[in-house]
Amino acid sequence: MSPQGGISENISGWLAETDEHRLDLLWTTARQVREQFTGRQVHLRGLIEISNLCERNCTYCGLRAGNKNLPRYRMTDLEILECAKKASDLGYGTVVLQSGEHPSIETRWLCGIVRAIKRSFPLAVTLSVGERPLCDYANLRECGADRYLLKFETSNARLFSQMQSPLSDGLDRLARLRFLRRIGYEIGSGTMVGLPGQGIRDYLRDLFLFCETDPDMIAVGPYIAHPGTPLGKKAIKSQAPQPDSALMTRKVMALARLLCPTANIPATTALATSERGGYQMGLDSGANVIMPNITPLVYRAQYEIYPDSAALEHEDMHREVLRVIEAAGMEVGKNRGDRRRQRTEFAAPTWKSL
Ligand code: SAH
Ligand code: SF4
Repeated sequence: MSPQGGISENISGWLAETDEHRLDLLWTTARQVREQFTGRQVHLRGLIEISNLCERNCTYCGLRAGNKNLPRYRMTDLEILECAKKASDLGYGTVVLQSGEHPSIETRWLCGIVRAIKRSFPLAVTLSVGERPLCDYANLRECGADRYLLKFETSNARLFSQMQSPLSDGLDRLARLRFLRRIGYEIGSGTMVGLPGQGIRDYLRDLFLFCETDPDMIAVGPYIAHPGTPLGKKAIKSQAPQPDSALMTRKVMALARLLCPTANIPATTALATSERGGYQMGLDSGANVIMPNITPLVYRAQYEIYPDSAALEHEDMHREVLRVIEAAGMEVGKNRGDRRRQRTEFAAPTWKSL
């Protein structure tokens, strides 16, 4: 790494860094920037995996239509509302409704659920229901949905096009994100780290794309190979994802915190699934959000985006999350955890001192 170099060299240097003592400086700085720009609060968002139905065939994901071994489900309205009540009772500020993409996950049905949640609970509603026609996004927004999460997964266009075929409307995820922001959603995006073929140049470009798109929420998680997917099979054979993908995830998160200081950055479920102590690692790297999974266990086993052997009942998960937050010297957020923008977004002085 060249201390005299420009910002690209500096970031690439950190992405390549392996010295634990030097990396301590990166983690510490990310935590300082988090404290300065987002405070000491960790916002809790209850994740409800409302359906694993999916007609797409993303090569990385276990919910892909081609995975015929998976029993499929769609939760009932009542079950979803019961989860929202749990989230509200536990003091969470947000529920995140996530699903695959399938004609049975109708926008009309989703609209009814969003309206019912907004009527009954003081919760923000985040949707993570994929690529849909633009008018669906608008209808859902009118029904009260507050935020939309759509990860661009990787800024490497060639890699992405090998993993997912575009919809017939020809819009890419960035165009959808622009539209979502335009019609009033807070937008979330993010990436996977450790995909076969990814390298430091890709992570650097991912970070610059965060700067360019300026998402209100930035979710960075390690890619976890699923043996029932084409990419998972390839990855397991070639021993990818790289063994250090959790460390690289932490570096990308910490650098995202420096580049986009007011963004909400979760300690992702993928990091917590792939690593013991993953939530703690996430908070240590500058995260200020945790998304405890409050999906009923019977469905969680079937929401197999990637293999997950450590699913906890929501009460146990809640206790564990409180313990991690306390151990990090932080406190549970008391409000919805909307993004708080500031005039000086770029933590330039901090950056120069690194
Ligand atoms: N269908 C929606 C939401 C469900 S997928 C969509 O595609 O956006 C939610 C996220 O799971 C994806 O954005 C992706 O980043 C993550 N994911 C899928 N498969 C994964 C894997 N094998 N390892 C890690 N993350 C994965
Ligand atoms: Fe379906 Fe989303 Fe998985 Fe792609 S990533 S297969 S759209 S659930």
